[in-house]
Amino acid sequence: MIKSVRYETFNEGQHLVVLGAVHGNEKCGTAAIERLMAALDSEKLVLKKGTLTCVPITNPRAYEENVRFCERNLNRALYVKDEPQHYEDQIDPILCHILEQADVLIDLHSYASEGGLFSFLGVSNQTEIDFCRHLTVQNFVYGWGDAFAQVLEDPRDAMGTVEYARLHGAIATTIECGQHLNADAADKGFQVLLAGLSYLEMIDAPKAEPVDQRFVKMHSVFMKEEEGEFAQPWKHYDEVSEGQLLATYASGKEVRAPQAGFIVLPKTHATVGTEWIFFGVGTDCP
Ligand SMILES: [Zn+2]
Repeated sequence: MIKSVRYETFNEGQHLVVLGAVHGNEKCGTAAIERLMAALDSEKLVLKKGTLTCVPITNPRAYEENVRFCERNLNRALYVKDEPQHYEDQIDPILCHILEQADVLIDLHSYASEGGLFSFLGVSNQTEIDFCRHLTVQNFVYGWGDAFAQVLEDPRDAMGTVEYARLHGAIATTIECGQHLNADAADKGFQVLLAGLSYLEMIDAPKAEPVDQRFVKMHSVFMKEEEGEFAQPWKHYDEVSEGQLLATYASGKEVRAPQAGFIVLPKTHATVGTEWIFFGVGTDCP
């Protein structure tokens, strides 16, 4: 069973869908959405127009078990299956149906490494870029797909919530509210939701203007080739200079920054043969 709550106004406007806990161990989105619903239910906040659909817990069993997913990453291969096999396959029809009705999607997540609020920016739609720049987010990462294009047997395997929503005409963004356990992650998520509602003119609140925003384009990934250590406890979005030491292998071999740039989602506990450090470069707004 999935709980979704829809607020419908008497005035025409956009349909905003907000999702929490698409990954079950990312609980800040749930808290942010519950706070929004409490504000609306107590009329501390009033919707002026359009429709708002809130799904505080998109993957209920994973949320209960405090895991990313139970049997299949709900944020990949998101489409209605002819023969559902995994637990998450049963969520697909419900989630897809909600996303098909969205004009705008905000999907709230958090991540494992240390760091703060950022957004994965899609760069093919100016309306979407403008929206994302007005959500109180300062740090953006883009170009993930171009940098790490995989050859997938089935291209639908790359489909997550934002991809599915875009396919059905919405503008969409994934917001990473910070490290899973950051004390302020839920608050950051809530501020993003308010900013989204205000940008869409669905609530009476001043719009969040873009301030000091930074854009990082994905450049490369360093796989962990053998046992080794980071040169320092990297956090997401740490800035590094050209040639700076990033990590050292047990053999003495060094990993250095290919140019000035940023550490993206460092995997401190990566096992040998897996992704260790993603590296991106700063750019102007794409
Ligand atoms: Zn996530």
